[in-house]
Amino acid sequence: MDAYLWRHLEDQFAKLAGQYGYDEIQTPTFEDTDLFCRTSGDTSDIVTKQMYTFEDKGARSMTLKPEGTAPVMRSVLEHSLLQQGSVLKLWYFTTIFRYERPQKGRYRQAHQLGCELLGSASPQADAEIIEIATRFYQGLGLKGVVASINCIGRQETRARYRDALLQHAAGYLAGLDQEARDRVQKNPLRLLDSKDPAAIEALAGAPSVLDYLEDSSRAHFDQLQSLLTDASIPYQIAPEIVRGLDYYTDTVFEVLSTDLGAQSALCGGGRYDGLVKDMGGPDTPSVGFALGIERCCLVMQSQGLIPEPQCPDAVVVCASPEAESAVRQLAARLRTAGLSAQHDLSGKSLKGQLKWADKVRARYAIIIGADELAAGNATLRTMASGEQSQVPLDGIEGRLRS
Ligand code: AMP
Repeated sequence: MDAYLWRHLEDQFAKLAGQYGYDEIQTPTFEDTDLFCRTSGDTSDIVTKQMYTFEDKGARSMTLKPEGTAPVMRSVLEHSLLQQGSVLKLWYFTTIFRYERPQKGRYRQAHQLGCELLGSASPQADAEIIEIATRFYQGLGLKGVVASINCIGRQETRARYRDALLQHAAGYLAGLDQEARDRVQKNPLRLLDSKDPAAIEALAGAPSVLDYLEDSSRAHFDQLQSLLTDASIPYQIAPEIVRGLDYYTDTVFEVLSTDLGAQSALCGGGRYDGLVKDMGGPDTPSVGFALGIERCCLVMQSQGLIPEPQCPDAVVVCASPEAESAVRQLAARLRTAGLSAQHDLSGKSLKGQLKWADKVRARYAIIIGADELAAGNATLRTMASGEQSQVPLDGIEGRLRS
């Protein structure tokens, strides 16, 4: 039922991404499991709890794609898509699979649209990525779209911040089992991403990562903010946003919606300067985002923004059996002229065909019967007003277009 809406979203996204110079990339449904373990981080929820992993007949461990970025990077490297020193811009539409507890806005098979910008370390690239995500939602008419942005720095920041965070959450950590404690020790930032109510409580009043940034990260974040302001992109700083995957550096962002309840993230992304290098490629600073189609549909629904499905330009109505062939030929001619036209295939009466034209919300019904055939005419009925007139069959396409 939502298929036409998905098509609409994908078309809008492709058009928008195209305006910024992004080309589409498609990646396989499953990849070597190792790809996600290496890139998402072996302490991430995705890797530890959510992957659909299976062994193929060649005893290789394969995993259904839980996210879109790592497969894109693998593809770029494998097929040498990136010229050294240049920028590569890609967009994708992908199915993702995550073993999560299904609820409103969270499914085990979900769909994402996303962009990846490879080869630029400039804050302009971060700003462009955030701009595309924002413009996409604005273009759909979503109200109150604000990007929540944060900077999580690099290694030096993490090392300093880690100690402060662990100290703040010491009481909470003492109550965890060894495995969970080990995970937090390995990547304390992950604590900020935790959905566990006890963790959320323990982190109230925790120090902000923004107070621990190295100079280059701070400068990058400041520039990003002025670029967003210049481009009139609504944003707010949200120090609690860290994102679930290990590969992020500096900028991270989400677009949230209060229309979504517990699953409030519409979209998320950020900068991952080390990812391509970690995968064995050249140093390739990159930034990207992914947005969930299902959640976008939910918000559109709750804000009354679902567009009407496209209606046919014309239903060609057969008013007597000898007109059947002329009806088929006219419908074909209209389609050749780029219009959408249908005719009855189920033997409906004249009245039944007109009722059907009304139901499918055709702009026009074009009626051909014995009299029209003899005169080389058709009866053109404007469905909205019910007005009818006799028009020559020749050149009727032009009339419909205007
Ligand atoms: P992530 O890759 O987790 O950053 O997700 C990016 C976006 O994809 C989120 O903001 C959601 O809109 C959407 N998303 C992620 N996981 C799911 C899921 N299990 N079900 C539905 N949408 C999802």
